This record gives sequence, structure tokens and C-alpha cells, in this order.
Amino acid sequence: MPPPNGQTFDECTSGNVKQSRILLIVPDQKASMLSAAILAELAAAVGPGGLIVEQNQLQTYECDGLAALRTVPAAVVLPRSTAEVQAVIRVCDRHTIPFVARGAGTGLSGGALPDGLGIVIGFARMTRILDIDIPNQRVTVEPGVINSHVSQRVAAQGYFYAPDPSSQTVCTIGGNVAENAGGAHCLKYGFTTTHVLGLEVVMPTGELAHFGGSTLDAPGYDLAGVFVGSEGTLGVVTAITLRIVKKPETVQVLLAAFDTISAAAQSVSDIIAAAILPAAMEIMDRLSIRAAEASVHPNYPDAEALLLVEVDGSATEVTIQMDQIRAICKVNGAWEDRLAQSERERMLVWKGRKAAFAAAGRIAPNYIVQDGVIPRTKLPVVLEAIGRMAEATGLQVSNVFHAGDGNLHPIVLYNAAIPGQEEVAVDLSIRILHLCVDHGGSITGEHGVGKEKQEAMGYMYSEPDLATMQLVRMAFDPQNIANPDKLFPRTKLCGEKSGPYHPHPLETAGVAQYF
Ligand SMILES: Cc1cc2nc3c(=O)[nH]c(=O)nc-3n(C[C@H](O)[C@H](O)[C@H](O)COP(=O)(O)OP(=O)(O)OC[C@H]3O[C@@H](n4cnc5c(N)ncnc54)[C@H](O)[C@@H]3O)c2cc1C
Repeated sequence: MPPPNGQTFDECTSGNVKQSRILLIVPDQKASMLSAAILAELAAAVGPGGLIVEQNQLQTYECDGLAALRTVPAAVVLPRSTAEVQAVIRVCDRHTIPFVARGAGTGLSGGALPDGLGIVIGFARMTRILDIDIPNQRVTVEPGVINSHVSQRVAAQGYFYAPDPSSQTVCTIGGNVAENAGGAHCLKYGFTTTHVLGLEVVMPTGELAHFGGSTLDAPGYDLAGVFVGSEGTLGVVTAITLRIVKKPETVQVLLAAFDTISAAAQSVSDIIAAAILPAAMEIMDRLSIRAAEASVHPNYPDAEALLLVEVDGSATEVTIQMDQIRAICKVNGAWEDRLAQSERERMLVWKGRKAAFAAAGRIAPNYIVQDGVIPRTKLPVVLEAIGRMAEATGLQVSNVFHAGDGNLHPIVLYNAAIPGQEEVAVDLSIRILHLCVDHGGSITGEHGVGKEKQEAMGYMYSEPDLATMQLVRMAFDPQNIANPDKLFPRTKLCGEKSGPYHPHPLETAGVAQYF
């Protein structure tokens, strides 16, 4: 494939490793400052009330759930329709203005962090459910629709939308698509990508494209599959057709209490090895149990580790599987195995689990929620290693995670007011990710790479892998304006060593950008 217009491909040899790099010559960096004329074009694109430029209002958009990283955008637009999104992105394309889409801003990896020279496209005014097709189990929504609102709208007909991030009462379907969001029940039902049938996407040129459709497995490349999880770097989704699922006849949740987190983790592996696929399997350690208890009082046992196992299906199937699961937990040393006795009690169990991140604020003034994946069988060894690493730094790490998927969420607790402690916490959280990769896992399971983990991508992937992904990105976004400087590591120059990033002189001059 020839280099796209204005770009040169570059290769260098560093030691024995051949590195492929792509240098984008930015046509005119100064053109991306928002002049009065450009602001007028944006205002015309979104109509009255759709453009925000006042500094105090812009500050609302300076960060997402990763509040350690903040940048005030040059402007925010709030479109009401696909046509308005197209008009906005055409302005960005014409003037090479970086843009970032924003749903609810609950992302935990800095994905919605603005570029100071660019704009935020907020979806707070695109919140319509466009179509509900119960016989075909489809719902089509605008990107600003809140995740839990989909389930609420189809509940009366006996259906639900399965991906259930803990943030589901606030996060949006657009953000879920961009992050390929998961949740407790994705163990059985699959992540967002399993539930997305079709996408309407505004490309970074302003053109409208449709990926997938309303039927399964459309012919051609699976571009909906490519787009889901692309973190806003390939364009902006303006309508999503989702698959909904029939509610199960019976649901039961078990709380099993253990003296060690390893015993709880071993039970998870044993349950799957027994060919049982629960709807959800979550583990919480003592710190997170106590924080959740103090926050929403779910009446958890005061254990070193708690395993929550939810099983759904026919009443007979659920009874048989739950008996097997309780027996497995007993063999692994569970000293309490309590079934929720009512739907209210079951909801309270989940409320405690879903409140666990926010509840960490009760045990430390600051915390970093990490998101790594390991093969399920490695849970005991990796969790023990995390405990040792935390002890060596003097910091506490609480663990609450999607155990069935091997998706860890270590919460590194610290106090930013103590000089140097934030740096130690950041370093520890990155070393935990490296540990996951060393054990055959990944640096993210569901929160995305965003800004936070862009360097860690280089730990997980080789240069040719990253360069191939860049080619995909450039095919969608040749000007590099769709959520730039996220997802990919800032490539090292020939002979450059690891360590703090130093910009190339061409970058400093504002005429070139690596990606
Ligand atoms: C307390 C808490 C619990 C959480 N629990 C979970 C969990 O269990 N599972 C999980 O997966 N995540 C979880 N998250 C993370 C977060 O909620 C998810 O990543 C969610 O999908 C983000 O949705 P959002 O609407 O807030 O997106 P935002 O944060 O606004 O954006 C996230 C990314 O999506 C892009 N984006 C947004 N809208 C669009 C669009 N229309 N087109 C293209 N790109 C777009 C943004 O540019 C950004 O890169 C949690 C977060 C919090 C704060």
C-alpha cells in the first residue's frame, strides 16, 4: 500500500530489532487553531445552543473517569442528529482539527481526554431509541443512550441488553461500542462486540458509512468488528443496532466466603473445568468487601475473599448447577455459601459489587483502577504476585474483578498529598499490567488503552503488529484527526532509549507527528 498523501514511511534498525515507523507530516499545524471563522462554521453546523466556547463550561469536558489527566478543549459541540455530526466533522476535516467523541465521560483510560487544539463532540443531545423490533430481538439507538435504558425499555416484553458495565446507569452505548465494554454478565453473554449488529458511522472525512446490518454475519470484511473497541480513532458512531436477549426463567446468585483469594480463584477454575458456564463470576477481596459494605451495605460476609456466582436458565438447570458450584466451593474451603433469597437481595448483592470502584474512595483519598487480563488458571499466582509487589511499595491494592474472564481490576490506593506517592502508584499499576502480559495476558480487558496505557501497548505488541494496526487506522483517518495520540505508543526514534518521551524537532516545530 503506498503511503497516504503527505506521509512518509520510515524504517530503522535498533539493535537487532527492525522497527517500522510512520511519520505523518501535518499539513499546517497552525490551521488547527480555532479562529473566529472556524467557530462560526462549527456554530452553523450544530445550530443554536450547540457550541460551547466559554472557559468555565469547557472545563466540564477536561477529563473523563481518569481525572489525573486533564486538558481543556478549544470548543465543544453538541449535535442533535447524524447530519449535524457530519457537518461538524467536515469542518474538522477541512481545517485539520482534532476531534474526540464523548458519551458520559466515565471511561477510565483517558479515551475521551480532549486535545487542547481540538474539539469535543458530545452526545448528550443524541439520546433517542430509534427502533424496537421485539420479534427480531433488535433495538436501534443513538450513541448518547444510556446502557441501562435499553434494558428498561424492553423489560416489559421479557428482554434485556446483556453487556452490563458497573457504570451502566450512566455510561452510553456510543462509549460502550468505542471501548467494547464488558461487565459481570459478559462471561456468559459476551462483550459489547457480540451484541452489535450494525453501525452508522461518520468517517473522519464527514462521509457516512454503514458497517454490519440488522442480520448476523453480513458479507465482506467485518468492519463493525473492527470499529467496536477502536476507541474513537476510526470515526464517530451515530446509530447502533443492538441484539437483545430473552430474560432467563430463573436466576440465582451465590455468595461464597473464603480465607484466601487463591482459594476463591481456584474455585473459579474448577467451576469452568466442570463444564459449567455461570452468567457471572466475580471476586472481591477483604479491602473491597469492606469498602462496598460501608458504602451500600450489601450484607457481605466479612471474609478474606468473596466469590459471587450467578447462574441462570431453567429452574431445573439452575438447581443442578448451583448444587455442583456449592460443592466445588466447599472443597476449596468456602466457610459460607449463601444464596440470595429474593430478587431484592440479589439486586443488593450486585449493587455492592458494582459500587466497588467508587467505594474505594472510602479507604484512600486517591486510587487508580487498573484493568488487565490473564488466563483464568493464572489467577492464584498473579494475585499473590500483585500482593507482594504492593507490599514492597508500601501501598495497598484492593482487588475486585471479573474472575470468570480472568479480567483483573486491581485498585491501587494512594494519597496524592504525600510527595512522590502518586508516582509510586502509577509505576506499580503499570508493572501490574506488565505482569499480566508476562503471564500470557493483556494490558486491558474492557477499559481500553486510551491515553493512560499507550506506552504499555509497546510492551504487549511487536513493532510490526503496531505498524499494521496503524495502517488500519490510517485507512479510516488519513489526516489523523479522530482522537489522535491515543491507543498507540509514541514511537521511538532511531537509537532512542526507553524513558521519558522527548519530541522530535519536527514535532516541536509543529510540522510533523508520529502515529
Ligand atoms: C465506576 C465505574 C465502573 C466501570 N465499570 C466498567 C465495567 O464494568 N466494564 C467496562 O467495560 N467499563 C467500565 N467502566 C468504564 C466506562 O464506564 C466504560 O468504558 C464505558 O464504555 C464508557 O462509556 P462513556 O459513555 O462514559 O464513554 P466516554 O468515557 O465518554 O468515552 C469513552 C471512549 O469512547 C469514545 N466514544 C464515545 N462516544 C463515541 C461515539 N459516539 N463514537 C465513537 N467514539 C465514541 C470516546 O472518544 C472515548 O475514547 C467503569 C467506569 C466507572 C467510572
